[in-house]
This record gives sequence, C-alpha cells and structure tokens, in this order.
Amino acid sequence: MAQEKRDYYEVLGVSRSASEEEIKKAYKKLARKYHPDMNPGDKEAEEKFKAINEANEVLSDPEKKARYDQYGFAGVDPNFGAGGGGWGGAGGFDFGDLGDIFGSFFGGGFGSQQRRNGPQRGQNIRVSVSVSFTEAAFGCEKSVTLERSEQCPTCKGTGCAEGTTPEVCPDCRGTGSVQVRRQTPMGVFATTSPCTKCGGTGKIIHQPCSECHGNGQVHKRRTVKVSIPAGIDNGQTISLRGQGHAGKNGGPSGDLLITVMVKPHELFRRDGTSVFCEAPITFAQAVLGAELEIPTIDGKVKYTIPEGTQTGTVFRLKGKGIPILNGRGRGDQYITVTIETPRNLTREQKDALRKFSESLGEGNHEKQKSFFKKFKG
Ligand SMILES: [Zn+2]
Ligand SMILES: [Zn+2]
Repeated sequence: MAQEKRDYYEVLGVSRSASEEEIKKAYKKLARKYHPDMNPGDKEAEEKFKAINEANEVLSDPEKKARYDQYGFAGVDPNFGAGGGGWGGAGGFDFGDLGDIFGSFFGGGFGSQQRRNGPQRGQNIRVSVSVSFTEAAFGCEKSVTLERSEQCPTCKGTGCAEGTTPEVCPDCRGTGSVQVRRQTPMGVFATTSPCTKCGGTGKIIHQPCSECHGNGQVHKRRTVKVSIPAGIDNGQTISLRGQGHAGKNGGPSGDLLITVMVKPHELFRRDGTSVFCEAPITFAQAVLGAELEIPTIDGKVKYTIPEGTQTGTVFRLKGKGIPILNGRGRGDQYITVTIETPRNLTREQKDALRKFSESLGEGNHEKQKSFFKKFKG
C-alpha cells in the first residue's frame, strides 16, 4: 500500500547526494543479498528485492532521478497524473487524509476514482466490559451502553425532508470532486479537489430533514446485550458485526468490539483452562492424612490427602477447571497444599511437641537424612 512505499534513497541505503557510482555499488550489494535465488521461499526478501530494483530503475537513470528528486514518486510513476489507477485504486482501502493530499496534487491517483461520496463503512466502536472470574468461566449476559451514529429513521439517511429528494450537484455532477487541468513542467496534470458547492457529497439538499438537519445520521445512546461465552479469558475481544457506527452512502455499519476484562479472584488463579489454588493444611493433617474441603468454581468438593503429605504437593482435580472456549470439556484444577506451622503454643503444648520430637527417629525424616548425608559427602 502507498504508506509502505519507502523513499528510494532509503531503500538503497544511500544519501540523497550519493554519486552514480555509490548508488550502483549499493544496489549491487543489496540485490545480491535479497536475490530470490539466495532466499528461496522468503516472501519478505522477495518484496525487498522488488523494492531495490524499483529504486535502482529510477536512481540509475539520470532523467528519472531528477524527476524523482523534484516530485517524489509522482514524478516517476506512470500511473500518476495520467488519471490511471495509481496505488490502491479499487479495493476500498481508506486512504483518509493521504488520499486527499495526493488527490489534490495528482488527480486520478486515488482521490477521484475512489469517489468521495461512494459507500463508506461505518467506524467500529470499542468498549470494554468487566466480568467476574466465574462469569468468565461459565459465560454470562452483559449489557453495554454506548453512543453511536445511526441512519436517521425519519429520512432513511437521505437527509431530505419528507417528500423531497436531493438535487444532483451541478458543479461536480454528483461525483463530489471537481477536476482542474494544470500545466506543470512535467506536462498537464488533472488536479482533483473536493467540490465546494456540495462539500464533496455530490448532492444538494434544499429542504433538510428536521431530525438530522440534512446529515442523514443521528446520534443515539444504545444499550446492547452481549452474550459472553463460557471460557473467555482476560483481554479477549468479542465482535458484534454491524453494531458500530452507521455507514455512509449505503455503506455497511461498523462493528462493536467488546474487550472482556476478567476480575481477579480471591482464591483462584487461572492460566488458560487451568485453575490454581492453594490450600493451607495443619501439621497433623499432613502427617495423618485428612479429608479436605476444596473450593472449586463449582463449589466445595471433598478431597482426601494421604498420610505423610509433604508441603508443596500439588493435587489435581480433573475437569474442575475452566470450560474450553467454543469447545467441549474443561480444564483441571490444581491444588497446592502448604503446611501451616502452628504458632503461639502454650508451655504444655511445646513440652508435648518436644517429647514427640524426641520419639522420632531417622526413619521418620528420610529427606533430611539424605540431605545431610550428601552434605557430609
Ligand atoms: Zn458538488
Ligand atoms: Zn433525517
């Protein structure tokens, strides 16, 4: 596209004051580097190779180079000035201001052919919606309120009062732009600029619609219901087609893009469809084993940990994770148990624990045993 077309000097990596010899050298070096034979299947290299050749074609030709130096791309592109397609041409790409700039200098580039008053797609609207952890997991309905332009219901977008029709602009004959032929050192150029009589719309409204004042569109505040699918993750976007701003001149409406923000949960952490949580257990539960009540996004479930559970052990609850977005099945939940060391013991409790500790042998603490063995070794 036009914006990506780089300056020819930049493409060859030489300065504007580079000599013929320097340009030749730079071209040879780059052409060798990006030659398709040296880069089979590399699309980027191929594009670069093309750009390098295009730049060289112009900069190695003194006449073309002079025109390029004076007029830029327009001075050397046969499509410019002649009223041909130019870059972009059809395809509906919106050149925005760029189209206007080029259009006004070089008629036929993309300005006029694009039709100022042709159908234009409406703009997208972006909003965000906040959902809870479990709402994201299981899906929910939300409403978003937004302001958007809509086709005026009174005139159906024509901008005319009831019973009247717009007049085709006599100055531009409905095209929205006017051409002026201008003599330049490069020849005759057809210059296009927006029609001032109709403001580029191509039509003149004598009796404007009372609701939209001739604009054809009105601003409305709307509340739109959005169905958030189960399994959606933080930052993902839902797109509602045609719920954005209305198009112009019969163009389609834009889309409504809703970015979902998932609030963090007090207990759960999520990674994809997996849910993680930590469960503190007592020293006695770890030693003797226990039936724990584990929170899940479905509610509490019972889970039995075995005798001699070590701190940091991760248990898996199959199918208790997040539903797969637009799919079947669910992820798993992982519970990491951590032993909470008891505090604030009474003297009696401490004595009892000391006595208990003295009763333990090496066989009760295999990890510690092997640790010190390695340490000594
Ligand atoms: Zn006009
Ligand atoms: Zn209206």
